[in-house]
Amino acid sequence: MALIVQKYGGTSVGSPERIGNVAKRVARWQAQGHQVVVVVSAMSGETNRLIALAKEIQPNPDPRELDVVIATGEQVTIGLLCMALKEQGLKAKSYTGAQVRVLTDSAHTKARILEIDERNMRADLDAGAVVVVAGFQGVDANGNITTLGRGGSDTTGVALAAALRADECQIYTDVDGVYTTDPRIVPEARRLPTITFEEMFEMASLGSKVLQIRSVEFAGKYKVKLRVLSSFQDEGEGTLITFEEDNKMEQPVITGIAFNRDEAKLTVLGVPDRPGIAYQILGPIAEANVDVDMIIQNVGHDGLTDFSFTVNRAEFERAKQVLEGVKAHIGARAIEGDNKMAKVSVVGVGMRSHPGVASRMFRTLAEEGINIQMISTSEIKISVAIDEKYLELAVRVLHKVFELDQAQ
Ligand code: ASP
Ligand code: MG
Repeated sequence: MALIVQKYGGTSVGSPERIGNVAKRVARWQAQGHQVVVVVSAMSGETNRLIALAKEIQPNPDPRELDVVIATGEQVTIGLLCMALKEQGLKAKSYTGAQVRVLTDSAHTKARILEIDERNMRADLDAGAVVVVAGFQGVDANGNITTLGRGGSDTTGVALAAALRADECQIYTDVDGVYTTDPRIVPEARRLPTITFEEMFEMASLGSKVLQIRSVEFAGKYKVKLRVLSSFQDEGEGTLITFEEDNKMEQPVITGIAFNRDEAKLTVLGVPDRPGIAYQILGPIAEANVDVDMIIQNVGHDGLTDFSFTVNRAEFERAKQVLEGVKAHIGARAIEGDNKMAKVSVVGVGMRSHPGVASRMFRTLAEEGINIQMISTSEIKISVAIDEKYLELAVRVLHKVFELDQAQ
């Protein structure tokens, strides 16, 4: 008997019929003798609808109240799924995040999980019930409802699997695994039977939307066995996220191509080139809770330098305002911005043993006339920031040049 945590995304619970199908799948796992904890997202489109509704009332919604509103989407699906499970003749019990006690910090709309109380869930499982938990939400130490950021149900799933020491965490979604890149852009993209945890972490942080980055972080930290599967197919192994590199096989140079179109670039022009300037620029940005991604400080001329960085497009205006506010203090000449940027990244642990990946990537982009505006690298990834209008072209040519369309 195994303890399985299954997480179903919004499209998998997008209609009463689909919720019924989830219940049938859960019933099959239970019939095989497994204990099952199910984490669900809101029905597809629901979180977007709730956010839009909030914005109609308050264009810049109060974060605490926004969490109160958007946490309701998942509360609907846990109740509906429990009803569907009961219709299948199973015992089932729903829990909101607060009812489990998924304790988080108080960073509304992007809270972090601190602790999970697994006792009630454990008791229900031992009594033969299926436990159904609302994804994406928790409660802070003062009893405020919090949410974990878009896509946060993945993190709930993995965190519950860690807390319960589950044998496997299965993420059911509308694709049948992790692909070399988004098949909507490159039809030749292939499903990866396995991907290393490190690669998955990079892919998720670089814009592959299959798993929320924090869920991968959690899985790595607690060594949760994680698998991505389709909720629309009965067969298939999906993609297993492994902790070991497969030494038996020759590693491909590149495993996948991730991209993100929500990038924006800010440049502070003509700042004095002296110690502490990066801190004076990025300190206030961090205080405003804006995440900074790529950073470039140019070589100074005449004691002045230009300093550029990228942020998520949604935070562009806020970051710009912060910079305008400190411009005089840091002695900058001007602030410039471009919010139509995209980032394309090639990822693969094979890079460690294959030199020349960067030059191949840059040459390929150059041949297409795509200008690289920023570069950042790690041991297993190379990212470039480019004009958004070249994004699809860049992904296509890189997928081809690194032979990702060819079966291993
Ligand atoms: N419903 C939330 C969202 O749309 C959380 C999730 O689906 O994982 O972002
Ligand atoms: Mg998702």
